[in-house]
Amino acid sequence: MSLNAEKFIKYPLADRGLTPLERLMLKIGWGGPIKCTVCGSLAFMKRIKQNLRETCHCSVCGATNRKRQLALVVCDAVRRMRGGRVASVRDLARYPDLVIYNTETGGALSRELSRMKNYISSEYFGEEHNSGDTVKGKMHQDLTRLSLENESIDIVLSSDVFEHIPDPYRAHAEVYRVLRPGGRHIFTVPFYKTGFLDEHRTSIGAGGEFVHTKPALYHGDPVRRGGALVHNIFSLEMLVKLAELGFRTNLYQVHSYRHGILGSGAVVFEAMKD
Ligand SMILES: [Zn+2]
Repeated sequence: MSLNAEKFIKYPLADRGLTPLERLMLKIGWGGPIKCTVCGSLAFMKRIKQNLRETCHCSVCGATNRKRQLALVVCDAVRRMRGGRVASVRDLARYPDLVIYNTETGGALSRELSRMKNYISSEYFGEEHNSGDTVKGKMHQDLTRLSLENESIDIVLSSDVFEHIPDPYRAHAEVYRVLRPGGRHIFTVPFYKTGFLDEHRTSIGAGGEFVHTKPALYHGDPVRRGGALVHNIFSLEMLVKLAELGFRTNLYQVHSYRHGILGSGAVVFEAMKD
């Protein structure tokens, strides 16, 4: 038998492509049954498209594959932090003292979290507002200048948000400030699994304006028509910079047919404040 080091987990993380079952589900456009980690329902996945991460909607709550990935790691973190059985985000309502701050207000995940006693959510409405202001009925927060108290939050959630912040590590430092000891920031960002350095797609010009150092890239945005500009795509460098801020970070590459978590790009981070 020949020795094959490829079978072991290594960094860079190998991109394995789609499994035969994933290819089949993509062809027919639906799959399941799944146990949704957001709403806890036994459900099916609808609208399975090439971009597996942003599709595969839960037939009951509408959560995408990406949100179920985040929810899986959140549930496991709460189980480790507080004990008990946590199968989905719906179960978090049983922890009335747990304080969760989510950096978005819309979608299936926020809807489930809003059943909690201590749930805070915000959007970013632009630099003309102050953190903590109410804009269009929602709380505005600038992640680089949070209005939240020191050590007041157990879990901060962000799902594809930090790539839109020009100075993301200033925001990570703010998250560290507001987390209680033992708290965590559980998040997703675009991440080069085979890279080492963050990719900076913009820089600041002489007049304070953004200069595109790579072709401008925009992602869909819940409050801005035309989308939000991507300033950075992260890589291993991010884990080092988080360590310099005091975080101990786990990288999870998750996959679970049972939970409707598909594709080889399902990477979730858990940055812990010890
Ligand atoms: Zn669901």
